[in-house]
Amino acid sequence: MLYWDYAAATPPYEEVVQTMEQIMKLHYANPSSLHRAGSEAGKLIRRSREVCAAALSVQPQEILFTSGATESNNLAIKGAALQYQTRGRHLVTTEIEHPSVYESFLQLQRMGWEVTFVAPDSTGVVDPDRVAAAVRRDTVLVSVMHVNNEIGTIQPLKEMGKLIKAVNPRTLFHVDGVQGYGKLAVDLKDWQVDLYSLSPHKLRGPRGVGLLYIKEGIKLFPLLTGGSHEEGQRAGTENVPAIVASSKAIRMSGEQRETFVAQLVPLRDRLLRFLRTVPEFVINSRQDGAPHIVHFSYPGMKGEVFARKLEELGMAVSTRSACSSRLAEPSRVLLSMGKDVSSASGGIRISLGDSHTDEDVAALEQALTTAVQALKIAEGGMK
Ligand code: PMP
Repeated sequence: MLYWDYAAATPPYEEVVQTMEQIMKLHYANPSSLHRAGSEAGKLIRRSREVCAAALSVQPQEILFTSGATESNNLAIKGAALQYQTRGRHLVTTEIEHPSVYESFLQLQRMGWEVTFVAPDSTGVVDPDRVAAAVRRDTVLVSVMHVNNEIGTIQPLKEMGKLIKAVNPRTLFHVDGVQGYGKLAVDLKDWQVDLYSLSPHKLRGPRGVGLLYIKEGIKLFPLLTGGSHEEGQRAGTENVPAIVASSKAIRMSGEQRETFVAQLVPLRDRLLRFLRTVPEFVINSRQDGAPHIVHFSYPGMKGEVFARKLEELGMAVSTRSACSSRLAEPSRVLLSMGKDVSSASGGIRISLGDSHTDEDVAALEQALTTAVQALKIAEGGMK
């Protein structure tokens, strides 16, 4: 089976697996305990915070560890909305965010906040002017993702940050950076980002751990209360092995970014060239999108059916993103780009990683051709 789902989960680095094992065995003490074993575990967390901060060029005290980017996004959005409600109850986001962002806004909307959802253009790019036009005096937060997890479009964050802050310097700017880090350059200061979410398991790190950058001076209303962990921003005994292993994965994927991208781009371009030759497919990814995501539709064919056929042929792909692939509805992202229901229901996402070679892409192209032919014959037989 060839794995084409790196945007959903990545195989951990060997160093990550070893670190997890070592720390589970040696540093099982609770980092809040006052004895030496506890303070050693605490030291490991502090060191990990420094490593992550260096990777993002921020301060260690600005790094918060969570249970994953879903929690980071929930905390950034609801934590800011609740903390700063005296400033206003208006929020801005886009129609193409990951469910962990989108659903957080829907929940706040049900609780009485006013939310403006900005639509993308027909290629999935959100116009910074439209985002800025939505910002008002009472806008507490704007949340925009770096790279779309379904189609791989890159949002112009620098321009957005500049325009948002020009309209209202107090409006906080949150970025879901999950699909961007490790593939694209990140400059939180230059983009004027206040809150930034990361997910180590997309970066060959462990699952069940996440990161949230919270710019110095910003307080979030805690969603988890209890002990005074993480400076009172998030209660719960820290997952020491996963935190240390994450810091390794974040550092390594940041350091290896350019080599990784240089390897991916020719494979992505080859795949896009091939897809353009198949009349049944409509390509939804932009040529200048993220190097690891290629998305296309087979209008009239359910994405799930096509993906199952590809799996029979030895290729593991996704229909959109893993978090929404069990939904029967058409893709919200494709619909908001103006695609019809038939295209939005027939999407396939192929995401590339460092194990892939030219031969793998050739095998995938062969499987795609075979799958189209087999399904057309099956359809013809049913008529
Ligand atoms: N945001 C984006 C853009 C994602 O792709 C994902 C993972 N599917 C998440 C957030 C959620 O991350 P996690 O799996 O760490 O909760």
